[in-house]
Amino acid sequence: MMNSAIQRRGLMFVLSSPSGAGKTTLSRMLIERDNGIVMSVSATTRQSRPGETDGADYFFVDDGRFDQMVTNGEFLEHAKVFDHRYGTPASPVKAALSDGLDVLFDIDWQGAQQLKEAAREDVASVFILPPSMDELERRLLARAQDPEDVVLRRMSKAADEMSHWAEYDYIVVNESIDTSLEAVCKILAAERMKRTRQSGLAEFVINLQTES
Ligand code: 5GP
Repeated sequence: MMNSAIQRRGLMFVLSSPSGAGKTTLSRMLIERDNGIVMSVSATTRQSRPGETDGADYFFVDDGRFDQMVTNGEFLEHAKVFDHRYGTPASPVKAALSDGLDVLFDIDWQGAQQLKEAAREDVASVFILPPSMDELERRLLARAQDPEDVVLRRMSKAADEMSHWAEYDYIVVNESIDTSLEAVCKILAAERMKRTRQSGLAEFVINLQTES
């Protein structure tokens, strides 16, 4: 357990993977289990899928609004992924971090790179790999939210996406969602314990020394 007397710098926790490797499910499970971390909700120009809610899964915006957000400097990072644009609104992230919460980002390698350039010390990144390409295809088809040509394009893009694995701090091969969730929780727990993130340590230790 983290000692609540010690202040901590908020952590930007990035999960990336090719579509279908299980990242969205893992993100949801992590948010449900741990109330010290909140999800960053991205803006996107893609259409919503059945079951997705505006403002919860994404902020669905048109190209004009997206351009405006870029011009206003509202994004912490933004990138084109497949045929659409995606971006992380900065102000909710800043608010959560200053409230002492960690923030979870389900973003691609381009976004992960930009976050690291902006705030390397505050970013921990995890790349989720599928156990095999057959399994990835099976999961994409089972999802059945996208038309088949989109699934095929996503399969061909998966190899590109996976080529960025070495830019991440941690790699999890998602054989089973429960095991992967345990792994991700352990990574998060260890990252929170990093000396540099426990900003009130010096004062805490001085107090310990004066007590003795
Ligand atoms: P999907 O359309 O399947 O929800 O997401 C497609 C890809 O875009 C995923 O790899 C997802 O991680 C990525 N993505 C979602 N939001 C953002 C964002 O705000 N920034 C970046 N760079 N990538 C994002």
